[in-house]
Amino acid sequence: MERSGLARLGPALLLALLLSLTAVATYAAARRVHDGDRDQLTSDTHAAVTAIDRRLEDYGQVLRGAAGLYVASKDVSYKEFHDFFADQAVIQRFPGVQVVGFASYVPRAGLPAYARRVQREAARSGLDYPPFRIHPKLRPDAQEALVIDHMEPPPGNSAAFGLDFFSESNRRRAALLARRTGRPAATAPIGLVQARGSSLGFDIMVPVYGGPPSQTGAPRPWAGVVYAAFRTDNLLRGVLGMPGPDTDLEVYDLGPAATVPPDASLTNAAIAFDLRPGRANRSRNADHTRVETLEVAGRRWAVAFTRTSSTLSTSERAGPWVIAVAGILVSLLAAALLSALSTSRARAVRLAERMTGELREREEQLRRSNEELEHFAYLASHDLQEPLRTITSYVGLLESRVGDQLDERARGWLRFVSDGAGRMSQLITDLLEYSRTGRAGTETSTIELNEAWDHAVANLQHAIADAGATVTRGELPAVRARPRDMTSMLQNLIGNGLKYRGEAAPRVAARARHRDGRWEIAVSDNGIGIEPRFHDRVFGLFQRLHTAEEYPGTGMGLAIVKKIVESNGGNVRVESVPGEGATFLVTLPPPEDDA
Ligand code: ADP
Repeated sequence: MERSGLARLGPALLLALLLSLTAVATYAAARRVHDGDRDQLTSDTHAAVTAIDRRLEDYGQVLRGAAGLYVASKDVSYKEFHDFFADQAVIQRFPGVQVVGFASYVPRAGLPAYARRVQREAARSGLDYPPFRIHPKLRPDAQEALVIDHMEPPPGNSAAFGLDFFSESNRRRAALLARRTGRPAATAPIGLVQARGSSLGFDIMVPVYGGPPSQTGAPRPWAGVVYAAFRTDNLLRGVLGMPGPDTDLEVYDLGPAATVPPDASLTNAAIAFDLRPGRANRSRNADHTRVETLEVAGRRWAVAFTRTSSTLSTSERAGPWVIAVAGILVSLLAAALLSALSTSRARAVRLAERMTGELREREEQLRRSNEELEHFAYLASHDLQEPLRTITSYVGLLESRVGDQLDERARGWLRFVSDGAGRMSQLITDLLEYSRTGRAGTETSTIELNEAWDHAVANLQHAIADAGATVTRGELPAVRARPRDMTSMLQNLIGNGLKYRGEAAPRVAARARHRDGRWEIAVSDNGIGIEPRFHDRVFGLFQRLHTAEEYPGTGMGLAIVKKIVESNGGNVRVESVPGEGATFLVTLPPPEDDA
């Protein structure tokens, strides 16, 4: 019951184990996919940031080059300015640049003379500059202005010509930062009013310090800024191209790099660029979005890169599913197999148990019927003795009382009756002994074979003397056997040795040796011997090789020997060459102590 319970539990346990393994493997594979996506996102974000950074660095180089013009000469002519940018093909080569130009720093007092000079030189340049006018009008308290007086290209940018950067706080801040640091400075995002809708832009300004270096080592005076105005979406689309539909990108201006740390949050940041304006923030979450910051001309920008679907191949993404489905299938299959196996095993065990049971029952039946048979034989032979004794005694009476009145023939008949009765009596005695041999109830004990042999010889002393035989023994061991059995066995063997004698006087001898943990006792004689083909047959019941006239006997002696030996846990065989005597070899277990 318990075993079959376990057998039922086995497949369930196996199933649970395999399913857990499948779950772990699926989870690991899903993690790998997730990590793969995350790493891809991180590297794509970094690539985008690097591309933006490089492009702005290139633009910065061009502007610094333009600033270099002003270091060489105090006044850069309109033609020189135009040629410089035309040579570089800035507008064509650098998408997103709306206009590049120069804004001069002019103290209030110098403004009228300055305006006249610009008007004159711009008109003379032949470069399509509009009439020069400083705008918006300076506030009464303003002491200085930063006025755009060079532009490239002039057509289409007429609104910028004469614009005072100081009039607007965002640009003023960037200009003063550039002036103070001597490095390029960007503005915060600026709303641009375009022909088609509105968009965002920003300016980068590079400071220019004019005039020859002073003899006293004092810094050269600030002349103004070379600047470029960018349209952010054109700039960034030029850098990034058009990413796939599952990618979103936003750029934020976090503030001045000097005061805003690189890990500042996006919460209060100003948007500078939105790749997909309709979709802003919709799918941004920690798993799908990476934010990386960069420094752009003194300002801190943040790039938020979002990917809404996996970039891994279909087969890579299917990995966890394949593992899960295959794992579940294999688990079910293995559990089903085990279940089938244990069911058939249990069935086989039940069958074997039933067969063993039946076998035991048969054995028991056989044993009982054997016992009954032997009991019957015992009773029958016992009861036969009685009438036989009657016959023998009356034949004896007949012979002694009326023997001499009978003729020779009748006396011969009486002898036949008496001989027959004698043989029958011997047969019954042997049968009784045979059926008694090995019957349950008598325990085995340690039997000294020396003593058993001597008993047997004593019992046979007349026969030995009559035959003129020599009967000897070597030292015989003790064995484990039933009392009386050993004497009876040895008596049978010695008796046969006397009976089946040849011409010479019989010699019967016994010796023993230890063999494979048992004792082997050899009883040999110098008689007529037995042909090898009869070596097995002589141990059978009623098996004789001679007639009663040649050698008297019942054919039961060796059968009794065999039964005795086997019922004591041993075995017997004969070795013989006809005419050269016979040796009976009996193997018996040693006593308990020797075992
Ligand atoms: P029995 O002696 O009563 O005939 P046994 O069973 O003792 O019956 O012997 C069976 C047969 O084996 C005998 O008839 C005889 O032919 C043969 N036999 C037994 N013992 C010997 C022996 N020692 N030498 C030769 N033949 C033997």
